[in-house]
Amino acid sequence: MKKDLPQGPFDAIVIGSGIGSLTTAVLLAKEQGKRVLVLEQHFTIGGQTHAFKRRGRFEFDVGIHYIGDMAKGMGRKLFDYLTEGKLQWQKMPEEFERYVYPDFEFSVPSHPREYQRRLIERYPLERAAIERYFSDLLAATNWYSLAHLLDALPAPLRLPLRFLIRSKGRFANQTLGSYLDQHFRDPQLKALLASQWGDYGLPPAQAAFGMHALVETHYWRGGWFPVGGAGKIAEAMVPIIERAGGAVLAAQTVDEILVEGGKAVGVRCHNTIKPHLPPQEFRAPLIISGAGADVTYNTLLPAHVPIPFRDELLQQSNGISAVCVYLGLKDSPARLGVQGENHWVYSGYDHDAALASGEIGAGYYLSFPSLKNPEAKGHTADIITFAPYELFQQWEGGTWKNAVTTTRR
Ligand SMILES: Cc1cc2nc3c(=O)[nH]c(=O)nc-3n(C[C@H](O)[C@H](O)[C@H](O)COP(=O)(O)OP(=O)(O)OC[C@H]3O[C@@H](n4cnc5c(N)ncnc54)[C@H](O)[C@@H]3O)c2cc1C
Repeated sequence: MKKDLPQGPFDAIVIGSGIGSLTTAVLLAKEQGKRVLVLEQHFTIGGQTHAFKRRGRFEFDVGIHYIGDMAKGMGRKLFDYLTEGKLQWQKMPEEFERYVYPDFEFSVPSHPREYQRRLIERYPLERAAIERYFSDLLAATNWYSLAHLLDALPAPLRLPLRFLIRSKGRFANQTLGSYLDQHFRDPQLKALLASQWGDYGLPPAQAAFGMHALVETHYWRGGWFPVGGAGKIAEAMVPIIERAGGAVLAAQTVDEILVEGGKAVGVRCHNTIKPHLPPQEFRAPLIISGAGADVTYNTLLPAHVPIPFRDELLQQSNGISAVCVYLGLKDSPARLGVQGENHWVYSGYDHDAALASGEIGAGYYLSFPSLKNPEAKGHTADIITFAPYELFQQWEGGTWKNAVTTTRR
């Protein structure tokens, strides 16, 4: 990755280096030969796909623990295209999810028919509802795909499709909780079916059934993990951007999107590690932000730029916050009988009440990355649990490794 400030001109500037930004930059480079400048505020490229090391041998992934559809479907084709086949994928165990409740455990197999069979075997009285649930998952997923297709179509074709979408997909917008209450009776089964809610970050009473369906069906062929860890994703994509004359710069915080005559024409940024250096301006005909709607519209675009939905965005509350624990282990966790599957551990059936209680650890995700990654040098475990943001608010605005100073202030 280039360290020196690059020479322009650039055809496009992309803010942030998460998978959304890198995908956009690679597509512009590969499809149109564009010179793209990617600016990332962090000192490591990759956004939530980046990885970090401790003691040279323990490697941790911050936001990628498993990805579905990496056998030979569309997801795999897309990744192969974006990384030019440089990324290898390790399949997780056949039973890749394990749901752990105080009084029962359930393992999810890597095939929807087998998953459905096991559910019916365990809850025979709910057979009809289970069969309907699987077909509804598929219908809701297709509804979302159609909605995305709509955006890509020429205007005259949108109207009939919009009608189709409206009539077919209404149920995808109801909450998962209301869907489960409507179709199922057994509270244990309802809890089990919602066990993956941590993947989309909202408990059943708040999550859209359609979002739940997208995630569930995404993992219908099981889970995969990038060989060498999630950091390999950016490692494979950055050279493609550079080959087309672009550059990917770490430690460049964009402070403002420059707007002239109602058009975004460039960005002003500062060096995150050396903030005393003078700010830099980069200009390009195309400015793309992968930094998220809140940062882009509420922080980077000057307040005088009219945005019809600015007030709506300002009223959005923070998402659910989480705590991640990264553990380096002395020995292989395989000795405990685990094989690299995910463990979703819950203290009860009511996911909504558990989150509302604010009790840390009432539900948590546990995985063992070193068992998923054949290139791992040290054994590791990750634990992720939801925790109220207020517990950490006292450190707001503090800097990394400076938490104690901030607390005493
Ligand atoms: C704990 C956790 C676990 C997850 N596990 C999985 C999983 O197992 N499987 C899965 O598929 N997904 C998982 N996800 C979700 C997945 O990681 C994200 O959905 C995805 O990586 C988001 O990509 P993105 O490009 O939209 O955003 P990001 O990766 O967040 O990228 C945005 C980038 O913009 C940068 N940025 C922001 N502001 C500025 C600025 N002013 N100037 C310059 N740069 C800026 C940020 O530093 C960041 O690098 C997980 C997420 C989390 C948090």
